[in-house]
Amino acid sequence: MKKMFKTLVSAGAALSLLACSSSGSSSAAGTTASSSAESLYTAGTYTASAAGHSSDVVVTAEFSGSAIEKVELDVSGETETPGQAAAEELISQIMEAQSADIDGVSGATETSTAVKMAMQDIMAQAQGLETSSAETTGLTDGTYTESVQSFGFTGDMTGDVTIQDGKIASIEITSETDSATGQWFSVAQKLLIPRIIEAQSIGVDSITGATTSSGAIKNLVGKAIDEAGGDSTQWRTPVEKSTETVTKEGYDVIVVGLGGSGILSYCAAAQEGASVFGMEAAGAIGGNSVSVYGPMALNSENMKEKYTNGEDYINEDDVYNTWIEYVGTDEKADVIKKAVYNSGSALDYYMDNFDFSFDGLNGLLGSFVVPEWTQEWTVYTADADNTKWYVLGPDHTFQFEHALDKAKAMNENNDYMTELKAEELITDADGNITGVRATYYDGTTYEIYGKTVILATGGFVGNEDMMKEYLGSTVTTIGCTVNKGDGIRMGMSVGGATYAMGTLPMIHISQVPNVIRTDELTADQKAILSALAVTTDMPMVTVNGEPWGNVNQSGTSEETGLSVEIAYAPGFRYYVMYTQEDIDNIKANGLSEAQAAAVVNFVGNGGTLPEAGTPVADIEDIIAVGEKYNNVIKGDSIADLAAKLDVDEATLSETLGGQDGTYYAVICAGWSYGTVGSLDVDENMNVLKEDGTPIANLFAVGQDSEGVCNADGKAYSPWGGQAQSWTFVSGQIAGTQAAAYTGE
Ligand SMILES: Cc1cc2nc3c(=O)[nH]c(=O)nc-3n(C[C@H](O)[C@H](O)[C@H](O)COP(=O)(O)OP(=O)(O)OC[C@H]3O[C@@H](n4cnc5c(N)ncnc54)[C@H](O)[C@@H]3O)c2cc1C
Repeated sequence: MKKMFKTLVSAGAALSLLACSSSGSSSAAGTTASSSAESLYTAGTYTASAAGHSSDVVVTAEFSGSAIEKVELDVSGETETPGQAAAEELISQIMEAQSADIDGVSGATETSTAVKMAMQDIMAQAQGLETSSAETTGLTDGTYTESVQSFGFTGDMTGDVTIQDGKIASIEITSETDSATGQWFSVAQKLLIPRIIEAQSIGVDSITGATTSSGAIKNLVGKAIDEAGGDSTQWRTPVEKSTETVTKEGYDVIVVGLGGSGILSYCAAAQEGASVFGMEAAGAIGGNSVSVYGPMALNSENMKEKYTNGEDYINEDDVYNTWIEYVGTDEKADVIKKAVYNSGSALDYYMDNFDFSFDGLNGLLGSFVVPEWTQEWTVYTADADNTKWYVLGPDHTFQFEHALDKAKAMNENNDYMTELKAEELITDADGNITGVRATYYDGTTYEIYGKTVILATGGFVGNEDMMKEYLGSTVTTIGCTVNKGDGIRMGMSVGGATYAMGTLPMIHISQVPNVIRTDELTADQKAILSALAVTTDMPMVTVNGEPWGNVNQSGTSEETGLSVEIAYAPGFRYYVMYTQEDIDNIKANGLSEAQAAAVVNFVGNGGTLPEAGTPVADIEDIIAVGEKYNNVIKGDSIADLAAKLDVDEATLSETLGGQDGTYYAVICAGWSYGTVGSLDVDENMNVLKEDGTPIANLFAVGQDSEGVCNADGKAYSPWGGQAQSWTFVSGQIAGTQAAAYTGE
């Protein structure tokens, strides 16, 4: 990363130089100057994008003939901190430098680099410099081996780029270390590489759902271009978008979103003989549903046969009653009954008809609130190599792909497309839903017409505005990149009501908010940093500066681990406070028992913790890097800390017992799997209007209807596997009901 950073800075410096001297006839390798002698720039507004940390960062800049007048950044797809938080500083650096040659913001390296790259592109546009053609690239032929940061906690990507006749001839990724994202990496590799080669541009769009892996591939090719003697900033020509419209009609059922609930709906509709069209925005099917342990299944016949000689293994009435008690109302009793009493049969339906395969956990995992309900939670069986057992990561795709292909083959009219993003419902003059309008990755508009629509877009955790509107704050996410609330928005656009939008997002994991992907810390040091965040033996302070006590999901206060309770914390995060003395003590005497026992599977970043009492001589280095990445905030006094945390000084002082001195606030953030609040549906999964009447040909499943099983202000129904179970239950019901819809 460092090497690339330097290369880019020098490329940027070269461009700035050109900017200063463009009154003469300037040219550079691969560029042709066409600026006028009177002015530096052609006045106007220019836009360019580049791959950032988790999205394509878009820069728009307004130029007069002699200066950059205004800069705007769209970093909405980047992490809230440090990515989005860096935006203002990056804008002022560009304005001050009047060029793309800026320092960037430390801790937000990937976002800064993307802004610089896009700005370099804009500078070239404003100066009338044409992008390189293959003939003028000046690239030296050869094969260049490069390494870049990739996705995940330890992610790293290496590949060979072959330049032949001045063109990108081949790109071969030789290693990608983050196995947990293996699938998304493969998708980016399969789809993006041919597009880069065809367009001879690293300005092609990233693959939806695989933006980080796409960005890494583009960065890797960019490094090779630079090393081959070119200027990668000149290889970012965006690919022209199609303006065509394609119409497809005659379907019985249109499924929007092919994650778990969408595929399961598709399968059930196809099984009933319907003609089905499915669309998926990402480059691959599966959504978050391929990253899970598995669904809850109460008294599945297959599980009973395998484990209990045909005997029931759980009392379903108990589960139902506990559930109604938990949500505190029987308003949605008819739907919750389906969630409970259909969970086993829905799993069996898909095992028997679509070859899904599950095992019981045999006590490996318990239900969160009722630990003895261990057998209610099943897991997907391993893949053929038996290597992907109980692993978090997109590992169950093969089961979903198999089911979808089997369902597609059930009717010759059935079809589905990936990289096709639903935009809106199409309605006729009377407001009746007749189809879905969608955009393909190449810009083509698709109008798909059919009798019914099933919304299965996986909730809204990826939509910042909706998160703030319904939950008051965004949340750090694990997975969930394409879940932007499109289904809920589309349902609402035709009068659909919502239910329990204030249910807390699913959070079972906590750690520092900003994963440090560089090697500035070893994996063991990263584990120590995370342990400082998740330990339960230090004072905890809310984002408002007030004391944070642990309140578990049953509402009782406990001094236990916080990975679930954090869903209740304001802003889904809190600060763990250390005085200077505490840090000195760790240096001399090591971690406490609680700190050394902090959970380190996810939070460990691949490292392990030292035993309690082993001196941590490098604690100051760990804290310093933590500070750099906004995981730790240091205050030289309570007043200083209050100012940095943007909290009331008196409140913070009272919380800290009024004892002044140096403090380190280590941020503990909840990592969310998804949202729960959703469209309101009835027991047929029909979307309901505010007056309670169903929209007959509109259905919602999975996270787009999960709210009906939950309650505002509470964590989601906390029995392990419930969310995934709902994809099976709601998918089977909606697919069957949609197929049966006649329009009469
Ligand atoms: C890492 C992880 C582990 C989990 N573990 C468990 C577990 O063990 N048990 C459990 O019960 N739950 C678990 N969950 C939660 C569970 O995965 C979800 O609740 C469930 O899978 C959601 O299914 P879904 O179909 O609603 O959403 P998804 O599976 O996410 O599918 C939604 C799909 O819609 C697509 N989409 C979005 N917008 C559009 C659009 N405009 N046009 C077209 N397509 C669109 C998305 O790309 C995605 O493919 C876990 C979640 C994660 C992330």
